Amino acid sequence: MEIAIIGAGLGGLATALHLHRQGFRPRLFESATGMREVGVGVALRPYGMREVDELGLTDQVNEVTVDAVESTFYNQYGQRIYGEKSGTHMGYAYPERYAHRALLQKVLLNAVSERLGPDAVTLGARCVGFEQDADGVTVRFERRSGAAPERMRADLLIGADGIRSVVRAGLHPDLSEPRYSGVTMWRGVTLMEPYLSGGSILHIGAPSQGSIICYPIIDKAFGTDLTLVNWAIEEYGRPQMVEDWNCPADPAEVAGMFGDWEADFIDLGTMLRTARAAYVIPMMDHDPLDSWTDRRVTLLGDAAHAMYPRGGNGLGQAFLDAAALARNLAGIADPQEALLAYEDERRDAVNRVVIANRGEGPEVIRRLVEERTGGRRFTDIEDVLPAVEADAIFAEYHRLAGMNRPDESGTAASRAGFFDEQQAARVRSAVSSA
Ligand SMILES: Cc1cc2nc3c(=O)[nH]c(=O)nc-3n(C[C@H](O)[C@H](O)[C@H](O)COP(=O)(O)OP(=O)(O)OC[C@H]3O[C@@H](n4cnc5c(N)ncnc54)[C@H](O)[C@@H]3O)c2cc1C
Repeated sequence: MEIAIIGAGLGGLATALHLHRQGFRPRLFESATGMREVGVGVALRPYGMREVDELGLTDQVNEVTVDAVESTFYNQYGQRIYGEKSGTHMGYAYPERYAHRALLQKVLLNAVSERLGPDAVTLGARCVGFEQDADGVTVRFERRSGAAPERMRADLLIGADGIRSVVRAGLHPDLSEPRYSGVTMWRGVTLMEPYLSGGSILHIGAPSQGSIICYPIIDKAFGTDLTLVNWAIEEYGRPQMVEDWNCPADPAEVAGMFGDWEADFIDLGTMLRTARAAYVIPMMDHDPLDSWTDRRVTLLGDAAHAMYPRGGNGLGQAFLDAAALARNLAGIADPQEALLAYEDERRDAVNRVVIANRGEGPEVIRRLVEERTGGRRFTDIEDVLPAVEADAIFAEYHRLAGMNRPDESGTAASRAGFFDEQQAARVRSAVSSA
């Protein structure tokens, strides 16, 4: 069976590898003429790492990524609001990892090349449309390289061509335009001393003023003892700009926003001013679709369900799609029914994550603290946002993303070990007095 995957991004490459594991030999068509090192950090949740493990790539991925130890939340005064452990530190069967997108893509691309052959990916082939009939799909390309075809025939077409998907536009012409959130993201990387655990993601700030999120993506980067740290700043009120992961920016423009923020474990101003690279990009997603599949054509990853990066679930959800698609194609004799079964398995679940991300996701806790303190310092976080309340918010969000906490069936007390000691004691006493 000839399966054409449009897009050799992380979702498309993972799909090719899962299909290959199930005995298929798909071909990928990528519009870029070369694999450039575009992008900065992405998070790989435990359920995404499970799929990496299924593909036998854990060692290769571990080599280029950083183990996530904890996720922590602070106000603009550097006061800790909440923290939870990540991955295996939380008791999940799989770790959580932070990655440089380009390095992760290289790992997947190498695996595709080794397992499916060096010709599996055709670069410089920009899909511009498709038509399907009873016997197959004709895919049309704009040729940006000599290797690219003008058209090809396939039995199935998988649109893994990202947020500006041409395949999605073919299926849903009125629902293909991404939707601007009103938030502009400044994203960059800085080579610096490791902070806190060396595997901590920080969420800092008062949401009404802006937020900064940072996490390490390469340990001992570039032959030094330093860490490459990925950071993202959310800025409100800027008019929509063109979505392009490669649009350079001067972080000095935003460094001032954080000038008087205090955190004794990280110097935010210096981190921004000494960035090695910085980009600016609008935060966008798609309105959820009520169908991804039309006969021989389906969607996957951002093409199906681009979401705001809050919560770090976009990549993992693309990996889940990839595994589900391959499993259904291997298990169901009629490929068109298999595509529908794949969609049934994934669509509603992932649409719920897209919607949850529009509603701030777990970041809501920083807003709650700002509202309840009037933007001032607090004396005891338990008087402002009790650990049990924050815990319930996080447990619910993880459930939505298909990532129930390891001991979900237990009481809050049995989860206490996931907090720091102080919070653990509070949860225990709240539960015992209830
Ligand atoms: C260049 C780039 C940089 C990114 N950087 C980050 C980042 O730093 N942090 C982050 O959280 N997310 C980033 N993302 C998004 C992130 O990779 C995705 O949200 C997630 O990995 C899901 O992957 P995907 O394969 O569905 O989509 P993508 O990763 O967007 O991959 C889509 C692929 O399809 C190709 N493509 C697009 N249109 C066509 C076409 N018409 N014909 C053929 N090929 C086509 C693209 O070139 C790309 O390789 C980036 C995406 C891109 C494209």
